[in-house]
Amino acid sequence: MKKHHILFTLTALLSLALLVPACKEDDTPADPCATVTCQNGGICADGSCFCPDGFSGPNCEVEDPCHEANETGEWGYDHAGGPACWSMVCGHGDCLGDRQSPVNIVNAVLNSSLPELVLNGNETTTKIIHNGHTIEFEQEPGSYIDYGETENGLLNQFTLGQFHFHAKSEHQVDGGHAPLEAHLVCRNVWKNEYLVIGVMFEEGASNPFLAQFVDHLPTAGAPPFEEEDLVYNPFELLPDNHSYFSYSGSLTTPPCSEVVHWVVMENKVQATAAEIAAFTNILHDNYRPVQPLNGRVITLVHH
Ligand SMILES: [Zn+2]
Repeated sequence: MKKHHILFTLTALLSLALLVPACKEDDTPADPCATVTCQNGGICADGSCFCPDGFSGPNCEVEDPCHEANETGEWGYDHAGGPACWSMVCGHGDCLGDRQSPVNIVNAVLNSSLPELVLNGNETTTKIIHNGHTIEFEQEPGSYIDYGETENGLLNQFTLGQFHFHAKSEHQVDGGHAPLEAHLVCRNVWKNEYLVIGVMFEEGASNPFLAQFVDHLPTAGAPPFEEEDLVYNPFELLPDNHSYFSYSGSLTTPPCSEVVHWVVMENKVQATAAEIAAFTNILHDNYRPVQPLNGRVITLVHH
């Protein structure tokens, strides 16, 4: 009985061995790169991809978003050299500071003890340039703002050097963007400190101040526009009501220096959809994302 069983098992194994074909021995080693596809110009050796500068990952499929910024030292708003890379562009280390701008304006604290904006606008002609990042209106000297007093009792004066535009707005109010924001950049006459006024636009009635420039906006690389007959008071850009939000922050472009007393007007100014589009069509999302407040308080000043 036992013998019979063993015999049966052997016969079964033998027939199985006959049914299964013997594995064919291949003595040429398989190419380890045969199944590897390297992307973005990577080269395969020994089954691994060697990636060109700016790419990584097993198949070189991951592009370093700051590669271009690192190579060229140039910054911008699109993904190569965009805001996430600004701190890596040579000499722009302030962009990682903890008092950065713009911010989302939320939970502002009413405190009207801060100074009033006293605007001293000088009728001026302008030079309008597109510097690759924004449309900038360079100002002749003569327009300035008095803003309180210095510790020594002197008038705290800020002179307007230029104003420029961002689309969409850089600052947000309660998490919402405006389609356009102007920045009037004023420099303290006594020290390296700025007062920058933000003016938000909303769609509505025609804005004569904006409208006068619509046909003269240069695109990137175009020569600057200069017209002796175009004379205006730059502070007419502001809304009639001078209530404002205020906080301490930075330039919103590299080098992101934390030297700005921000004044964002509480009231928006109106412009038609076409007037706003004249700017937004040229500016293409030249706004920095909002930055953390890190405990900074935003004050609302009513005057
Ligand atoms: Zn700006």
